[in-house]
Amino acid sequence: MAFLEAKNLSHHFFTEQQATTALEQVNFTVAEGEFVSFLGPSGCGKSTLLSLLAGLMEPTNGTIHFAGQNVEIGYMLQQDFLFPWKTIEDNVALGLTILKKENREIVDELLEQFQLSHTKKLFPPQLSGGMRQRIALARTLAVKPALLLLDEPFSALDFRSKLTLENFVADTLKQFSTTTILVTHDISEAIAMSDKVFIFSARPGTIVKSFIIPQEIRELTPFEARNAPAFQVLFQEIWEELDTDED
Ligand code: ADP
Ligand code: MG
Repeated sequence: MAFLEAKNLSHHFFTEQQATTALEQVNFTVAEGEFVSFLGPSGCGKSTLLSLLAGLMEPTNGTIHFAGQNVEIGYMLQQDFLFPWKTIEDNVALGLTILKKENREIVDELLEQFQLSHTKKLFPPQLSGGMRQRIALARTLAVKPALLLLDEPFSALDFRSKLTLENFVADTLKQFSTTTILVTHDISEAIAMSDKVFIFSARPGTIVKSFIIPQEIRELTPFEARNAPAFQVLFQEIWEELDTDED
């Protein structure tokens, strides 16, 4: 059985003035350890999908089924939501409810692995955007989530920091083999990071096509992947797929 299965997911938002259909009849499965992306234009329902998967809202229709029970979910957003008045080590420890000695060890180990030990006693405003997102990732991984949800976590960064962080995240998640769902509007990012890419139509979001990323791309870092001949071919194919949707 799949790690995660979404069946006939639809979601409507109702306000006094209007009803908005954010998602319509979305069906997909995710296998354990897989990295999948949902790629689609702004406003197509990507964040709505993640909120539903995280259990923050109930879908209007359809079901979400996890193979395991009480699946721990990590959620990382475009903004890092670090608390500026807490030190880096306290920010990373945030999800670990009791500050036991062993939790301190988890935090120390993560910061070491992320090569950020030197920032332990600093405060978030003292760090660059890329570093802050690494800290946010460390905090998300500290609780050892079985499923990681990434909502455009690289989109607020400049191009160079974005590529560096993509490499870092891909490498880290490989080590943790965490099942991950990324939503993005960036075609290159989706191809470079994922095992599988689902293409969303414009609102209401529904899956119009899915692409399995070839092994030759998956073996490369996200940075290197962008130079692979297979990458260019896939980019063109996905570009055309997204383009026809807007006609
Ligand atoms: P994306 O993340 O792909 O940009 P969202 O999931 O945020 O898209 O939004 C999908 C659609 O649902 C948009 O039209 C948005 O305006 C609408 N929407 C999102 N959240 C709410 C809400 N809480 N109330 C009403 N409409 C919403
Ligand atoms: Mg969004």
